[in-house]
Amino acid sequence: MKRFIDLRSDTVTTPTERMRRSMYSAIVGDDVLGEDPTTQELEAKAADLFRKEAGLFLASGTMANQVAILTLCNSGDQVIVHRQSHINNLECAGLATICGVQPRVIDVSGGCWDLSILEKEIYQSGIQTAPTTLLCLEQTHDLNRGIAIPRSHIQEICRFAKNNGLKVFIDGARIFNASIALHETVATLAEDADLTAFCLSKGLACPVGSILVGGSQEVAIARRMRQRLGGGWRQAGILAAAGLVALDEMVERLAEDHQKALLLAEGLLKLGFGINVKQTQTNIIHIDLGIYETNAQTFCKKLAEQSILAKPIGNKEVRMITHKDIKFEDINNVLEEISKLCMSKKIL
Ligand SMILES: *Cc1c(COP(=O)(O)O)cnc(C)c1O
Repeated sequence: MKRFIDLRSDTVTTPTERMRRSMYSAIVGDDVLGEDPTTQELEAKAADLFRKEAGLFLASGTMANQVAILTLCNSGDQVIVHRQSHINNLECAGLATICGVQPRVIDVSGGCWDLSILEKEIYQSGIQTAPTTLLCLEQTHDLNRGIAIPRSHIQEICRFAKNNGLKVFIDGARIFNASIALHETVATLAEDADLTAFCLSKGLACPVGSILVGGSQEVAIARRMRQRLGGGWRQAGILAAAGLVALDEMVERLAEDHQKALLLAEGLLKLGFGINVKQTQTNIIHIDLGIYETNAQTFCKKLAEQSILAKPIGNKEVRMITHKDIKFEDINNVLEEISKLCMSKKIL
């Protein structure tokens, strides 16, 4: 089979040999009955890592987000989300349909929240108004840019939230990438949040899964919400086994993905593409085709003909994500192929 250099997402990563082996030999039981030791071990390990009381293993990041919102607010509340967030764009309007809450959407450029704008979005419960009760952060911020929000800014936002009676949820799908980029532990990055979610199935290379961590009371409610959504599962230890391997040996490796992304970003900048190198902090590269007269669809199609896959995210914008199945030499090949396309004017 022909090998593609697949830069569309870090979700395409395949499980490692050790993951497959530990899945095969995992000790399992019925997790809905609280009898799956491997799932329990994973939940406890994640909670420990985040210095929280409890963890909950779920099928996906989307489910973790919906469960967290169901746990932290009531139907009829208002919830603050940022415009580019996964919750706001890519969850089939779950916020409206499953959670029954009203989103208050805020523009947050470069991961920097403007508290004076935020202040205007806070409503009290009144005869005509629904209360704002929850603020959702994303780490890394913006799935098309991967910006690591510094700890000091998270603290500032959380202090503001608490002062205004809001709970805080961090959709930390890529919080481990942020932790590596910022040289902070995930525990400090998630310190002030009521619940935090992270994905095992992206850069950490598991086949399936996300984990929610937080206080034991919140996680107990979340467990019931997961059940309500049909997300209670039985011998989940088969999947949790891969998660245990991921937390042991896939976290530090993320630093390499960031190095590969930076190499790619710098190379593309030299070729004249619009790249914000300063914002290329983790494994995501946001490319503006700018001076080239091509559009994102055509550009990605031309790349695909050279066995390179990237994701069009707008008329002139393309996203590339590095991950464990992309090698350093692949980055050179990608730059070479794009450079050839530019020179032969095939994409002009
Ligand atoms: C990928 C992602 C999710 C959803 O995870 P799935 O497992 O694909 O459902 C949620 N939030 C962010 C920021 C993501 O990048």
